[in-house]
Amino acid sequence: MISFERVTKRYEEGHDALREVSVDIARDELVFLTGHSGAGKSTLLRLIMLMDRPTRGKVIVDGQDLAKVSSRGIPRHRRNIGVVFQNHKLLFDRTVFDNVALPLIIAGYDHREVARRTRAALDKVGLLSRERALPITLSGGEQQRVGIARAVVARPRILLADEPTGNLDPALSAEIMQLFEAFNQVGVTVLIASHDLALISRMQHRILTLRDGRLLGAAS
Ligand code: ADP
Ligand code: ADP
Repeated sequence: MISFERVTKRYEEGHDALREVSVDIARDELVFLTGHSGAGKSTLLRLIMLMDRPTRGKVIVDGQDLAKVSSRGIPRHRRNIGVVFQNHKLLFDRTVFDNVALPLIIAGYDHREVARRTRAALDKVGLLSRERALPITLSGGEQQRVGIARAVVARPRILLADEPTGNLDPALSAEIMQLFEAFNQVGVTVLIASHDLALISRMQHRILTLRDGRLLGAAS
Protein backbone atom coordinates (compact mmCIF):
# COMPACT_ATOMS: atom_id res chain seq x y z
CA MET A 1 0.00 0.00 0.00
CA ILE A 2 2.90 2.30 0.84
CA SER A 3 6.31 1.76 -0.66
CA PHE A 4 9.54 3.75 -0.32
CA GLU A 5 12.40 2.95 -2.69
CA ARG A 6 15.73 4.46 -1.62
CA VAL A 7 14.13 7.73 -0.61
CA THR A 8 16.33 10.63 0.41
CA LYS A 9 14.93 13.96 1.58
CA ARG A 10 17.40 16.82 1.83
CA TYR A 11 16.20 20.16 3.13
CA GLU A 12 17.64 23.34 1.74
CA GLU A 13 20.19 23.81 4.50
CA GLY A 14 21.81 20.59 3.27
CA HIS A 15 20.55 18.41 6.10
CA ASP A 16 19.35 14.93 5.10
CA ALA A 17 16.11 14.28 6.99
CA LEU A 18 15.77 10.86 5.30
CA ARG A 19 18.60 8.83 3.80
CA GLU A 20 18.06 5.98 1.36
CA VAL A 21 14.91 4.78 3.08
CA SER A 22 13.34 1.65 1.58
CA VAL A 23 10.28 0.01 3.09
CA ASP A 24 7.03 -1.68 2.07
CA ILE A 25 3.85 -1.50 4.09
CA ALA A 26 1.11 -3.91 3.09
CA ARG A 27 -2.57 -3.07 2.83
CA ASP A 28 -3.57 -5.00 5.93
CA GLU A 29 -0.81 -3.71 8.18
CA LEU A 30 -0.62 -1.43 11.20
CA VAL A 31 2.98 -0.24 11.50
CA PHE A 32 4.71 1.91 14.10
CA LEU A 33 7.41 4.38 13.23
CA THR A 34 9.75 5.31 16.03
CA GLY A 35 13.02 7.14 16.59
CA HIS A 36 14.35 10.11 18.53
CA SER A 37 13.16 13.64 17.90
CA GLY A 38 14.53 14.81 14.55
CA ALA A 39 15.02 11.25 13.24
CA GLY A 40 12.77 11.92 10.24
CA LYS A 41 9.39 10.50 11.28
CA SER A 42 7.31 13.55 10.36
CA THR A 43 9.23 13.95 7.13
CA LEU A 44 8.35 10.40 6.12
CA LEU A 45 4.65 11.04 6.83
CA ARG A 46 4.78 14.34 4.92
CA LEU A 47 6.11 12.58 1.83
CA ILE A 48 3.20 10.13 1.90
CA MET A 49 0.71 13.01 2.12
CA LEU A 50 2.52 14.94 -0.60
CA MET A 51 3.12 17.83 1.77
CA ASP A 52 6.68 17.48 0.52
CA ARG A 53 8.53 15.67 -2.25
CA PRO A 54 11.63 13.48 -1.98
CA THR A 55 15.01 14.71 -3.20
CA ARG A 56 15.78 11.24 -4.58
CA GLY A 57 14.01 7.90 -4.71
CA LYS A 58 10.45 6.84 -5.24
CA VAL A 59 7.32 6.86 -3.09
CA ILE A 60 4.41 4.68 -4.20
CA VAL A 61 1.02 4.92 -2.48
CA ASP A 62 -1.88 2.67 -3.43
CA GLY A 63 -0.20 1.77 -6.70
CA GLN A 64 0.46 5.37 -7.64
CA ASP A 65 4.00 6.71 -8.13
CA LEU A 66 3.72 10.04 -6.32
CA ALA A 67 6.23 11.65 -8.68
CA LYS A 68 3.48 11.39 -11.28
CA VAL A 69 0.91 13.21 -9.16
CA SER A 70 0.90 16.88 -10.15
CA SER A 71 -0.01 19.61 -7.69
CA ARG A 72 -3.51 19.57 -9.19
CA GLY A 73 -3.81 15.90 -8.24
CA ILE A 74 -2.83 16.43 -4.61
CA PRO A 75 -6.34 17.01 -3.18
CA ARG A 76 -7.54 13.79 -4.75
CA HIS A 77 -4.50 11.91 -3.42
CA ARG A 78 -5.17 13.25 0.09
CA ARG A 79 -8.77 12.08 0.03
CA ASN A 80 -7.37 8.58 0.37
CA ILE A 81 -5.48 9.47 3.52
CA GLY A 82 -6.75 10.35 6.99
CA VAL A 83 -4.37 12.19 9.27
CA VAL A 84 -4.32 12.43 13.07
CA PHE A 85 -2.13 15.01 14.80
CA GLN A 86 -0.87 15.15 18.37
CA ASN A 87 -2.52 18.50 19.06
CA HIS A 88 -5.79 17.45 17.35
CA LYS A 89 -6.01 20.63 15.25
CA LEU A 90 -9.69 20.90 16.09
CA LEU A 91 -11.76 24.00 15.45
CA PHE A 92 -12.63 25.16 18.94
CA ASP A 93 -15.54 27.40 17.94
CA ARG A 94 -17.37 24.48 16.28
CA THR A 95 -19.16 21.54 17.81
CA VAL A 96 -17.78 18.01 17.82
CA PHE A 97 -20.25 17.16 15.05
CA ASP A 98 -19.13 20.09 12.87
CA ASN A 99 -15.46 19.23 13.34
CA VAL A 100 -15.97 15.66 12.19
CA ALA A 101 -18.35 16.63 9.38
CA LEU A 102 -15.94 19.12 7.83
CA PRO A 103 -14.07 16.76 5.47
CA LEU A 104 -17.39 15.48 4.12
CA ILE A 105 -18.73 18.99 3.55
CA ILE A 106 -15.54 19.92 1.71
CA ALA A 107 -15.87 16.77 -0.40
CA GLY A 108 -19.40 17.88 -1.36
CA TYR A 109 -21.56 15.20 0.27
CA ASP A 110 -25.23 16.09 0.67
CA HIS A 111 -26.66 17.04 4.00
CA ARG A 112 -28.19 13.71 4.88
CA GLU A 113 -25.09 11.72 3.96
CA VAL A 114 -22.92 14.11 5.99
CA ALA A 115 -25.10 13.57 9.04
CA ARG A 116 -25.20 9.79 8.62
CA ARG A 117 -21.48 9.34 8.12
CA THR A 118 -20.52 11.81 10.81
CA ARG A 119 -22.65 9.98 13.36
CA ALA A 120 -21.25 6.62 12.22
CA ALA A 121 -17.72 7.90 12.77
CA LEU A 122 -18.59 9.41 16.17
CA ASP A 123 -20.20 6.13 17.14
CA LYS A 124 -17.02 4.23 16.23
CA VAL A 125 -14.94 6.36 18.58
CA GLY A 126 -17.58 6.30 21.35
CA LEU A 127 -18.52 9.96 21.21
CA LEU A 128 -21.99 9.97 19.69
CA SER A 129 -23.48 11.40 22.88
CA ARG A 130 -21.12 14.38 22.72
CA GLU A 131 -21.91 15.51 19.18
CA ARG A 132 -23.25 18.89 20.32
CA ALA A 133 -20.39 19.60 22.72
CA LEU A 134 -17.64 22.10 22.02
CA PRO A 135 -14.19 20.50 21.95
CA ILE A 136 -12.98 22.69 24.82
CA THR A 137 -15.40 20.91 27.16
CA LEU A 138 -13.90 17.49 26.35
CA SER A 139 -10.95 15.73 27.98
CA GLY A 140 -7.67 15.35 26.10
CA GLY A 141 -8.46 11.73 25.25
CA GLU A 142 -11.91 12.67 23.97
CA GLN A 143 -10.47 15.47 21.85
CA GLN A 144 -8.05 13.01 20.33
CA ARG A 145 -10.95 10.68 19.53
CA VAL A 146 -12.70 13.55 17.75
CA GLY A 147 -9.53 13.98 15.71
CA ILE A 148 -9.60 10.29 14.83
CA ALA A 149 -13.28 10.40 13.86
CA ARG A 150 -12.56 13.36 11.58
CA ALA A 151 -9.61 11.47 10.04
CA VAL A 152 -11.69 8.39 9.19
CA VAL A 153 -15.06 9.93 8.37
CA ALA A 154 -14.48 9.98 4.62
CA ARG A 155 -13.35 6.34 4.71
CA PRO A 156 -9.71 6.75 3.70
CA ARG A 157 -7.69 3.67 2.79
CA ILE A 158 -4.73 4.94 4.78
CA LEU A 159 -4.59 6.44 8.25
CA LEU A 160 -1.46 8.33 9.33
CA ALA A 161 -0.87 9.54 12.88
CA ASP A 162 1.94 11.74 14.18
CA GLU A 163 2.47 11.21 17.93
CA PRO A 164 -1.25 10.68 18.52
CA THR A 165 -0.79 9.85 22.22
CA GLY A 166 1.84 12.47 22.96
CA ASN A 167 -0.25 14.34 25.52
CA LEU A 168 -2.13 11.43 27.04
CA ASP A 169 -1.56 9.24 30.08
CA PRO A 170 -0.77 5.52 29.57
CA ALA A 171 -4.33 4.22 30.00
CA LEU A 172 -5.80 6.71 27.54
CA SER A 173 -2.92 6.12 25.14
CA ALA A 174 -3.67 2.40 25.11
CA GLU A 175 -7.34 3.14 24.35
CA ILE A 176 -6.39 5.36 21.44
CA MET A 177 -4.12 2.64 20.06
CA GLN A 178 -7.01 0.15 20.30
CA LEU A 179 -9.09 2.47 18.15
CA PHE A 180 -6.37 2.48 15.50
CA GLU A 181 -6.30 -1.32 15.67
CA ALA A 182 -10.07 -1.43 15.15
CA PHE A 183 -9.82 0.65 11.98
CA ASN A 184 -6.93 -1.50 10.81
CA GLN A 185 -9.10 -4.58 11.31
CA VAL A 186 -11.72 -3.23 8.91
CA GLY A 187 -9.13 -2.78 6.20
CA VAL A 188 -7.46 0.59 6.78
CA THR A 189 -3.65 0.66 6.43
CA VAL A 190 -2.33 2.44 9.53
CA LEU A 191 1.05 4.11 10.10
CA ILE A 192 1.68 5.66 13.52
CA ALA A 193 4.72 7.75 14.43
CA SER A 194 5.33 7.43 18.16
CA HIS A 195 8.24 7.51 20.55
CA ASP A 196 6.21 5.78 23.26
CA LEU A 197 8.27 2.57 23.12
CA ALA A 198 6.78 1.16 26.31
CA LEU A 199 3.35 1.24 24.71
CA ILE A 200 4.13 0.18 21.15
CA SER A 201 6.48 -2.65 22.06
CA ARG A 202 3.61 -4.31 23.94
CA MET A 203 1.48 -4.35 20.77
CA GLN A 204 1.87 -7.04 18.15
CA HIS A 205 2.81 -4.90 15.17
CA ARG A 206 5.87 -4.15 13.11
CA ILE A 207 8.07 -1.35 14.40
CA LEU A 208 10.20 0.72 12.03
CA THR A 209 13.03 2.65 13.65
CA LEU A 210 14.61 5.75 12.18
CA ARG A 211 17.95 7.07 13.37
CA ASP A 212 19.29 10.24 11.79
CA GLY A 213 17.17 9.65 8.71
CA ARG A 214 18.16 6.01 8.25
CA LEU A 215 15.82 3.09 8.71
CA LEU A 216 17.41 0.68 11.17
CA GLY A 217 15.39 -2.26 10.06
CA ALA A 218 12.14 -3.78 11.02
CA ALA A 219 11.45 -5.87 14.07
CA SER A 220 8.10 -7.57 13.88
P1 ADP B 1 10.87 13.72 13.70
O1 ADP B 1 9.46 13.79 13.23
O2 ADP B 1 11.40 12.32 13.81
O3 ADP B 1 11.11 14.49 14.97
P2 ADP B 1 11.42 15.40 11.41
O4 ADP B 1 11.04 14.64 10.22
O5 ADP B 1 10.50 16.45 11.90
O6 ADP B 1 11.79 14.40 12.58
O7 ADP B 1 12.82 16.10 11.15
C1 ADP B 1 13.94 15.43 10.58
C2 ADP B 1 15.07 16.41 10.37
O8 ADP B 1 14.72 17.30 9.32
C3 ADP B 1 15.35 17.29 11.59
O9 ADP B 1 16.74 17.48 11.65
C4 ADP B 1 14.63 18.56 11.28
O10 ADP B 1 15.26 19.65 11.90
C5 ADP B 1 14.75 18.65 9.76
N1 ADP B 1 13.59 19.34 9.15
C6 ADP B 1 12.30 18.98 9.26
N2 ADP B 1 11.51 19.79 8.54
C7 ADP B 1 12.34 20.71 7.97
C8 ADP B 1 12.14 21.83 7.11
N3 ADP B 1 10.93 22.18 6.68
N4 ADP B 1 13.23 22.52 6.72
C9 ADP B 1 14.45 22.18 7.15
N5 ADP B 1 14.72 21.14 7.95
C10 ADP B 1 13.67 20.42 8.37
P1 ADP C 1 -21.38 3.20 6.75
O1 ADP C 1 -22.86 3.22 6.76
O2 ADP C 1 -20.79 4.49 6.28
O3 ADP C 1 -20.79 1.98 6.07
P2 ADP C 1 -20.32 2.08 9.23
O4 ADP C 1 -21.21 1.79 10.39
O5 ADP C 1 -19.76 0.96 8.43
O6 ADP C 1 -21.05 3.16 8.28
O7 ADP C 1 -19.12 2.92 9.84
C1 ADP C 1 -18.49 3.72 8.99
C2 ADP C 1 -17.56 4.63 9.71
O8 ADP C 1 -16.38 3.92 10.09
C3 ADP C 1 -17.16 5.59 8.68
O9 ADP C 1 -17.96 6.74 8.72
C4 ADP C 1 -15.78 5.84 9.08
O10 ADP C 1 -15.80 6.70 10.13
C5 ADP C 1 -15.24 4.57 9.65
N1 ADP C 1 -14.43 3.82 8.66
C6 ADP C 1 -13.34 4.29 8.06
N2 ADP C 1 -12.82 3.42 7.23
C7 ADP C 1 -13.60 2.34 7.27
C8 ADP C 1 -13.58 1.09 6.62
N3 ADP C 1 -12.64 0.75 5.73
N4 ADP C 1 -14.56 0.21 6.90
C9 ADP C 1 -15.51 0.52 7.79
N5 ADP C 1 -15.57 1.68 8.44
C10 ADP C 1 -14.63 2.59 8.20
